[in-house]
Amino acid sequence: MTNPGMKCTRCRGPARHRFPSHNARFCDECLDVFFRGQVAKAIKKYRMAPPGGPMMIAVSGGKDSLAVWRALHDMGYETAGLHLDLGLGEFAAPSLAAARAMARRLGRPLHVYSFQELAGHAMEDVVRANRRNFCSVCGTMKRYWLNRLTLEHGFDTVATGHQLDDEAGRLLGNMLHFHDQYLANQWPVLEAAPGLARKIKPLCRLSEAEVRAYAKAHDLPVAQGKCPRSKGATLPYYQEAMQWLDDKMPGTMHNFYLEFLRRKQPPAPPLAGAARCASCGAPTFGQECTACRLLAKTEAWKQALWERGHATDA
Ligand code: AMP
Ligand code: ZN
Repeated sequence: MTNPGMKCTRCRGPARHRFPSHNARFCDECLDVFFRGQVAKAIKKYRMAPPGGPMMIAVSGGKDSLAVWRALHDMGYETAGLHLDLGLGEFAAPSLAAARAMARRLGRPLHVYSFQELAGHAMEDVVRANRRNFCSVCGTMKRYWLNRLTLEHGFDTVATGHQLDDEAGRLLGNMLHFHDQYLANQWPVLEAAPGLARKIKPLCRLSEAEVRAYAKAHDLPVAQGKCPRSKGATLPYYQEAMQWLDDKMPGTMHNFYLEFLRRKQPPAPPLAGAARCASCGAPTFGQECTACRLLAKTEAWKQALWERGHATDA
């Protein structure tokens, strides 16, 4: 909320947005300058991409991915959008509509794929067959297809809308549970390698509140609603805890995450020395990559169900 008479920290005109963690207030124009400045700083500091270089944007239709697309486009990057229709109930249609509206607004191409058509199974079935947490299966599948489709479209870099709250929440969770391997790999860029596109998070220095304000200032066509299957996810708990700390001590979240990055070395290239998946050719340390294993198990599960159905018919 803003107070009437509140002045923009940059231009001293009337401000519309207030960010206690930076002790800053902005009008729409100065928010834009600040926002793009933070994206430019992230790209340069963590060596995400050459200026103007082509990038695939993973567009879910939520405010974060629309904001990253808008900012990178305005900054002169050659972009295309990639949307995976995950088929998750009522959430799917507005998400796709938002991604389409954004593509039209920017005059950029949007590539749309149905997970079910790509994988040959509905996400619900992959989860059921593998008896694993929904978000973990869905996350693995999303990463796999975003990577593969980015490369198939001739791009070597894919940008996602992950922002500071996502990354700080994840960092808190990883630290609390001493997940050393995850901590070693938590970095806003994962380098490209044979079969792997570079993954970048250009919004990593911007908080959720800042992204929300930017989306509002640009009137981005954001899909409303939450994923209906995210109930079992634990990341929101860490994000809430982080937000609680930041409300009491503004700047804590920003400092926590950026100081972690400052003290850390970039991770080693992912899957260095890996073999190739026997089914799809993706780099992996096993015989088959995780995605192919999940799908093979789904196939076997469906086959067993079918056989059981026929046994009772007989
Ligand atoms: P989430 O893990 O849902 O918080 O999403 C994090 C980021 O992943 C988003 O900001 C998008 O860049 C990307 N993403 C998530 N879901 C999709 C999707 N269905 N299609 C394309 N990109 C997605
Ligand atoms: Zn594979």
